[in-house]
Amino acid sequence: MKAYRWGGPNSGLHLEDIAVPQPSTAEVLIQVETCGLCHSDCHIISGTGGAWIQQRPITLGHEVAGKVIALGESVSEVHIGDRVAVALLGPAGGIGLNYDGGYAEYAVVPVKYLEPIPDNVSFEQASVATDAVATSYHAVVRTGGVTASTTVAIVGLGGLGSIGLRIASLQGAIVYGFDIDSSKFEAAMRDGAKSCFSSLGDAKDVTFDVVVDFVGITSTMTAALEAVKPSGRIVLTGLGDEKLTLPTFSIVHKSVEIRGSLGATKEDLRTVLALISEGKITPDLEEILFSKVNEGLLRLEAGQTKGRLFTRPTLAKSLTIEGNSDDESDDEAKARVASSNLFASIKDQDASKCGLVTQDTASTTNNLFNPSTLRDSRYSNTDCFSKNGQQRPSFRAELDIPNLGPDQFL
Ligand SMILES: [Zn+2]
Repeated sequence: MKAYRWGGPNSGLHLEDIAVPQPSTAEVLIQVETCGLCHSDCHIISGTGGAWIQQRPITLGHEVAGKVIALGESVSEVHIGDRVAVALLGPAGGIGLNYDGGYAEYAVVPVKYLEPIPDNVSFEQASVATDAVATSYHAVVRTGGVTASTTVAIVGLGGLGSIGLRIASLQGAIVYGFDIDSSKFEAAMRDGAKSCFSSLGDAKDVTFDVVVDFVGITSTMTAALEAVKPSGRIVLTGLGDEKLTLPTFSIVHKSVEIRGSLGATKEDLRTVLALISEGKITPDLEEILFSKVNEGLLRLEAGQTKGRLFTRPTLAKSLTIEGNSDDESDDEAKARVASSNLFASIKDQDASKCGLVTQDTASTTNNLFNPSTLRDSRYSNTDCFSKNGQQRPSFRAELDIPNLGPDQFL
């Protein structure tokens, strides 16, 4: 089967042919119908999130939904053909983190992680429910303790933050949205925000019981400390800055509680699947071809996405992986060398540290191959990011990706 594998920092993410795994006693084999692309994968691939991954090499992809196609001997909780989502259990990790994930045609999953998908919820909705929606729910409701009597600030209205705002509103809370991009305010108001501002400092008349920071940089956390009430709570779920520098006096003087929030529980996943089924949450989705997963991750890293991205590994069947075929023509071989030289000539030493690897030069840069041919799934060409996480200017120009603010790195 085809699977996107990661071996460690600087190794890139590579499409490989590997054996279909077999379930052991308490596991099931699922055919992966959809897998969401997550910004966490960019952290993993670049190395900053490498410590989260115990198994190497590993198939990445942790937002997984599919059909059960084989059962371990002791499994009775699910049946062949069941539509299931795979729960991510916070610090306990899960698929695509502790064991092989869903950027693959098939995955083996311990049955305890499976949650049935309601009939009227699509696989792609279920995929993003496992992480983006459930993580937001967990941050706002479980970690933040947001209820109908809470006045809450949602900082960062990107993928997770916008869902978090909707969830806070569904709880009946008084909700304010914050983002440096005011174009997001209209949707936030539709989702139930009382008001939206560009920064917490603009809402001086409001006293917040809870601030949920989906950005996670020094400036947003410093502003959160100023805006939250004495003995209030700040939930940190964004990973914008690797390290934060915060005003000690504010934390101590106001007796502020700062809580990190990661992932969700299986109950959270069940709840958000029900909310989607009831039409109360409608994830904004965009499909990425399975052959373009690396490009999708590049767009995530650059903040060049609106909705949550997902891919369908079932479309992998017809992909040809470079090196597996012996019938490559001379012309194609020469073109491949030319492609390698092109990228080798890029003068950016940081590029050698890059995690992500583009896989399809044909459709993005030099048109050496016809984009419609699957042979052009070339995933070994180049590096993509400088150390500060921004896309290299040369590559940005090639993909026409604009500069974007830090709040978009969600
Ligand atoms: Zn994720």
